[in-house]
Amino acid sequence: MRQPWRVAIVGGGITGLAAAVRLRDRAPAGTEITVYEQSGALGGKLRTGELAGQPVEFGAESFLMRDPAGGESAAVALARRLGLADEIVHPTVGQAALAVDGGLRPIPGGTLVGVPGDLAQVTTVAQPDADADRDTGRPLLAPGADVSVGALVRSRLGDQVVDRLVDPMLGGVYAGRADDLSLVTTMPALAHSARTEHTLVGAVRAAQAAAPRAPGTPVFGTLAGGLSRLVEAAATAGGATIRRDAAVRELTPTATGWQLTVGPTRDPESVEVDAVVLAVPARPAARLLAGIAPETAATVGALDYASVALVTLALPEPALPALSGFLVPATEGLLIKASTFFTTKWGHLARPDGLALVRASVGRYGEEASLQVTDADLVAAVHRELSTVLAAPLPAPVASHVQRWGGALPQYTPGHPDRVAAARAALRGAHPTLALAGAGYDGVGIPVCVRSGATAAEEIITALGGSVA
Ligand SMILES: Cc1cc2nc3c(=O)[nH]c(=O)nc-3n(C[C@H](O)[C@H](O)[C@H](O)COP(=O)(O)OP(=O)(O)OC[C@H]3O[C@@H](n4cnc5c(N)ncnc54)[C@H](O)[C@@H]3O)c2cc1C
Repeated sequence: MRQPWRVAIVGGGITGLAAAVRLRDRAPAGTEITVYEQSGALGGKLRTGELAGQPVEFGAESFLMRDPAGGESAAVALARRLGLADEIVHPTVGQAALAVDGGLRPIPGGTLVGVPGDLAQVTTVAQPDADADRDTGRPLLAPGADVSVGALVRSRLGDQVVDRLVDPMLGGVYAGRADDLSLVTTMPALAHSARTEHTLVGAVRAAQAAAPRAPGTPVFGTLAGGLSRLVEAAATAGGATIRRDAAVRELTPTATGWQLTVGPTRDPESVEVDAVVLAVPARPAARLLAGIAPETAATVGALDYASVALVTLALPEPALPALSGFLVPATEGLLIKASTFFTTKWGHLARPDGLALVRASVGRYGEEASLQVTDADLVAAVHRELSTVLAAPLPAPVASHVQRWGGALPQYTPGHPDRVAAARAALRGAHPTLALAGAGYDGVGIPVCVRSGATAAEEIITALGGSVA
């Protein structure tokens, strides 16, 4: 292999940047790393903006502190690697609510994404069908099987637990429906315990016992100043050449690596590299793979995405409850599916002038039409619905922002992990110097994306001849 290695990372989201950092840390000194980002900014779905003079997240807001398998999450490890561990802050108000039956009720504790480990704890919002969760003498999930979260929970605990608890909690993350989403991908710890446990409540308890959380340890963290700091620090530490406004339009295998066609059709640039980390969402990945590995491209491109809009309002001294926010079950018939009271939830954002920043997430999978209105109409609808849910007229916003994320949240249907494994195996066999990474494959959360990027970097290092460390 020629030295120095030349590695292209396609996609400047957190996955691609995490891959750059890992390559910088583990590939031979002098490795030429280039990140190609089609937009004018790095970060992808991590985007810290400003409203009413305050940094505010227009995309992802926070990351899980712990890895489901134990220990700190990959996002925390990355922040530590980048010298930002001391800048991690945690919610000062953790309690959120569910908007059900026209009022707000605290989200019950002791659940795994709404699936109860103690039925008595959830009866304030949903009546479980306790008789259905009987031990039939065999595990809930057969080896290798996957199922939708909704199908499993409906069959064991009835519709209310799904519709009023699990669905809004999953919807808050994926903008998707529990009846469509893969248990193995969206709730891996529960899927794992369901392969040995005979009841759903037993499986939740086993999953909780496998990763016990010391009381008082924070679940979520973010960075003071915003998540774009993680993006900037990763871009610097990766020591990569950053190419913004540089869409990769074609990938062609060569005798020794890859040729990338970059930039506008009228003025394309051709680049030769030894290896590629493809860290873009599934659809652009499928387009780039189509000419190289059509079957893999078809598998990758079959992943569907939900679109959402985030509407942030700056409200002068509104009367907000002491909650981090609320989730809305789809059955309530509201446009808002989740809302975060930023300045209540995050103490470091609290303002002496009493101005509150409230963000609402709008749009569910399959309901894209609800987003096809003007920004002004979205702001008005969110303001109206917030007043209804809070049962108090809110003051008019002094500023507002609408961030639209078209096709942004992957909808992992049952069998997703097997499809990804098959796609990767096929690609690895034919093209070991091309690695797939990102939310389209391994999971949506920032820590999972960071790990996915780092793993792809390791694969490339192995394919090119091994690491230096
Ligand atoms: C509204 C919203 C809120 C979220 N909130 C949270 C949260 O609070 N916590 C959490 O853990 N996760 C959250 N997520 C999920 C998380 O942010 C994403 O899953 C993660 O950031 C995806 O990172 P990525 O790098 O894989 O992809 P992306 O962020 O999509 O980055 C991919 C990049 O590739 C670029 N690209 C695409 N095609 C090309 C091409 N041909 N050439 C060059 N570049 C290309 C894109 O412009 C983009 O910058 C949220 C997601 C959304 C949409």
